[in-house]
Amino acid sequence: MKYYSTNKTAPLASLAKAVTQGLAEDRGLYMPQQIKQLPQRFIDGLQEMSFQDIAFGVAEAFFGEDVEAEDLRRIVDDTLSFPCPLVEVEAGIYALELFHGPTLAFKDVGARFMARLLQYVNRSSGQTGTVNVLVATSGDTGSAVANGFLGVEGIHVFVLYPKGKVSPIQECQFTTLGRNITAIEVDGVFDDCQRLVKQAFMDNDLRRQLTLTSANSINVARFLPQAFYYFNACAQLPRQLLSQLVICVPSGNFGNLTAALFGQRMGMPVKRFIAANNANDIVFQYLKTGHYQPRPSVQTLANAMDVGDPSNFARIAEMYGSWDEVRQHISGATYSDEQIRHTMRQCYEQTGYILDPHGACGYQALKDTLQPGEVGIFCETAHPAKFKQVVDEAVGICIDIPDRLAAFMKGRKQSVSMKNNYDDFRQLLVDSGK
Ligand SMILES: *Cc1c(COP(=O)(O)O)cnc(C)c1O
Repeated sequence: MKYYSTNKTAPLASLAKAVTQGLAEDRGLYMPQQIKQLPQRFIDGLQEMSFQDIAFGVAEAFFGEDVEAEDLRRIVDDTLSFPCPLVEVEAGIYALELFHGPTLAFKDVGARFMARLLQYVNRSSGQTGTVNVLVATSGDTGSAVANGFLGVEGIHVFVLYPKGKVSPIQECQFTTLGRNITAIEVDGVFDDCQRLVKQAFMDNDLRRQLTLTSANSINVARFLPQAFYYFNACAQLPRQLLSQLVICVPSGNFGNLTAALFGQRMGMPVKRFIAANNANDIVFQYLKTGHYQPRPSVQTLANAMDVGDPSNFARIAEMYGSWDEVRQHISGATYSDEQIRHTMRQCYEQTGYILDPHGACGYQALKDTLQPGEVGIFCETAHPAKFKQVVDEAVGICIDIPDRLAAFMKGRKQSVSMKNNYDDFRQLLVDSGK
């Protein structure tokens, strides 16, 4: 499979190049040249298949031309070391719980898959030097990527995060690891971190010295595997409900939603999608007005969605020809912090289900727009204990911290402080490569 850039001026890339390089030369995002339709018997047989078998079928459609079947099978099985169950919250509304992985957030799936695919690609191409993975995070990406890559030989991960804007529980998940993981605390906001990373990728002189790759959701190896759990969610619903299925994705950089849209192209039975935003409602405004206007992000309770210029929007625009077509598939929703708190409390009181602030946006969007006869799935993108303080206060409870989360909190923070300055960042990378 070849990958083209959404900006259309970069040459086609192989999978190896798309995964290693992340962003195309023209700053576009890579898209597979073809989105293969899965056979009808695969779709009809979902209910009888295991998560691993479903994921392998989906992975083959994306990567089967480039990765040996046996290796792909192993990569998929290693990635999915945990379940993604569908839990009925109330009649007709289901939570797709994506927080049962090592860092308790959905990004574990993409990050674990990418780490293994990058290692495969490197070995196949006889790469000998260190590959430097650069990742900007507003919270959960950093921990998922750092943990996904921890101890993987030949790879060094640099996690950039905005100082004071990541919850302490999130922070400890990528600052306490050490080994091949360097955490960099940037004096700025998430968009600054993302800009520093993007600038490094455009720095040809630097790239002659170091092999750089990204692990943000722009990487095809990260966002595509997220389609696995959407198919698996369909497999967990009674077949007769599928024609009325609405999938609602709490969105920040829009990688997760894009994967779901790919799933639909491949034949997954979904009626429509909802993109749920917090106050950073750039895509909501686009859906309403047809104008895409990025703006600086603002801090919210659902901080992994605090994105002012969602990178994967370019992929969504590419998938559909026009604003009208986008609107036929996706509707938007936006919630303030006050509404998020209210939703968390109300959901707990009425159903006993504990939402995290991100999932709360998804749940509320279904509550607000689900039509009679429709069934809704929203992604519970993180475990509520990752946002313990916010959740406890809003809901008036004291939630337990799962053991695997508590283990991170015992570690010692080891991060490098940095100004929001590209030259400093560059120097740090060069020094670490020596
Ligand atoms: C990253 C993240 C999101 C947003 O996902 P995108 O793919 O960037 O849209 C939502 N919720 C949580 C908990 C996240 O970590």
